[in-house]
Amino acid sequence: MSSVIEYRVHPSFPEAHIFSVILRISNPDAQGQRLTLPAWIPGSYMIRDFAKDIVNIKATCDGVAVDLKKLDKQTWQAGKVSGVLVLSYDVYAWDLSVRTAHLDNTHGFFNGTSLFMRVIGQEQEDILVHVHPPSTTYGQHWKLATTLPKNQIGENGFGSYQSCCYEELIDHPFEMGRFQELNFMVQDVPHRMVFSGKCYLDRERISADIQRICTYHASLFGDLPINQYLFMTMVTGDGYGGLEHRDSTALMCKRDDLPMPSMSAPDKGYRSFLGLCSHEYFHLWNVKRIQPLVFQQADLSKEVHTELLWAFEGITSYYDDLALVRTGCISPDSYLQLLAQTVTRVMRGSGRKKQSVADSSFDAWTKFYKQNENAPNAIVSYYSKGAIAAFGLDMLLRDETKDRHSLDDLMRELWKKHGKTGIGVPKGGIKDLAEQISHSSLDHFFDHVVNGTEDPDMEGWFASLGIGFQMRPAKGQDDWGDAGEPENDPTNRPDLGARVVQKGDFVQLTQVFDHGAAQRCGLSAGDKLIAIDDIQITEKSLTNHLKRFVQLDSVTVHAFRRDELMTFELPIQKAAADTCQLWFIAEKECTPDQLKRRKDWLSAS
Ligand code: ZN
Repeated sequence: MSSVIEYRVHPSFPEAHIFSVILRISNPDAQGQRLTLPAWIPGSYMIRDFAKDIVNIKATCDGVAVDLKKLDKQTWQAGKVSGVLVLSYDVYAWDLSVRTAHLDNTHGFFNGTSLFMRVIGQEQEDILVHVHPPSTTYGQHWKLATTLPKNQIGENGFGSYQSCCYEELIDHPFEMGRFQELNFMVQDVPHRMVFSGKCYLDRERISADIQRICTYHASLFGDLPINQYLFMTMVTGDGYGGLEHRDSTALMCKRDDLPMPSMSAPDKGYRSFLGLCSHEYFHLWNVKRIQPLVFQQADLSKEVHTELLWAFEGITSYYDDLALVRTGCISPDSYLQLLAQTVTRVMRGSGRKKQSVADSSFDAWTKFYKQNENAPNAIVSYYSKGAIAAFGLDMLLRDETKDRHSLDDLMRELWKKHGKTGIGVPKGGIKDLAEQISHSSLDHFFDHVVNGTEDPDMEGWFASLGIGFQMRPAKGQDDWGDAGEPENDPTNRPDLGARVVQKGDFVQLTQVFDHGAAQRCGLSAGDKLIAIDDIQITEKSLTNHLKRFVQLDSVTVHAFRRDELMTFELPIQKAAADTCQLWFIAEKECTPDQLKRRKDWLSAS
């Protein structure tokens, strides 16, 4: 088979992190074919200018060099030709992330947005992609994994793949190397997980848990619109991340997040890995098929704004963990702990009072994805506050329909009206569908929780489930909220009002919170603390040392700003109640309505 557009990918020099690409265009534009590379990848809302990694580009026709003119940062125009136009270029691939490309002598990973130039005007043509292993001894042992439709491949997966259009092509990342793999079925659809990087797999455990989670999501939507699914995971010492695609996902996780053979209940690391897989799989419906209207045929050369990321990322973040408890992978208490942490992440930043989740969605490109040290004071995350909004909407739909309907029904309606049909979700689309389910106006919720900046009535939402809710001071820097009975005497310790890290001999401020003690006395992000009341401090000793001054109005602090020694008079200020504690109220103290709703909420519908 031949196509009018063919890409040939060769990891030509893994030690130098170079993928070589040859692009053959049978019918180039006679007036001068233009070619371009995307500036961003769907699912990750930041301009990344992938073309900056193209290091060597040439054009030929019948072996004769063709002029190639650069039109802008990512677009080229070839001279006029009358035969087949051949482009050849190298791509530097040394970004260990799920968003770009990475290649060395151990493995290769790439997204089409980093390697495949778009042939402008021929986006709908059939495409053929040939992928070769490295021409080295180790390359003979490599395998290739992708879900792009096969054309002709060998047992190791290398060979040719095909695509019906450019948009499909770039939604199918590739992983190559000596990965470990495991396979399972979900509703008769083959699912495959490949793991690159040194790791130790409890194969039965991971397959069984992920299979349960995938099965749950498929039954929630009532449809599994794929022929295959692939989880490709890069395992490193401290990686974390995921990017969703239509029938695959690229993940990064920590080696320690994978379960130990002897583990009974999932530890925090494995719980986080399960949550990550659950999140990306849920996207298969929510954002890959149920899509904001503006993301359909999105222009990848510049930012595309939507106010709906709170729904596409927030609702996904709500269901990723909820699926873990509904499938029995984690306990209800473990789930409450995760929910308490989400609430804490929202409540700890005063940015929530300045930016709504709708605005956070719109400005994802320049604010959420380009956070600086002032982020907690300036922005709110459409992931965490979006998840809280999803939880609130779930409770509201239950209230308004006397527990006949819930957010599950909204997801199924979204799937029916938008996912299955391919009709994009307009700006007010989520609210309209929610109101059709509730048969009532949800103006108040959307005005306040989605488009407003007041704190929602979370206590009321939790109360309807027979769950106690308390905001209390953090016990220390690593306290992000917890599940369990509240403390009668919440700690009353003085607080610096800043996040710190130990840097050599110094305790460095990384973030300074609005109205906190550090900000009030002029301590700033980047300052390196040396001593409090002339005693040297460390990150570990800071909390306890501050307690010594609880009766005073202030204490003297020495710190370096750049290379200048400065003195500050730190006011003694009690830690704010910014940490969430949640607990299940004993059944005998709950009403039958509370218990029924709690049971419905925690079990698969
Ligand atoms: Zn996501």
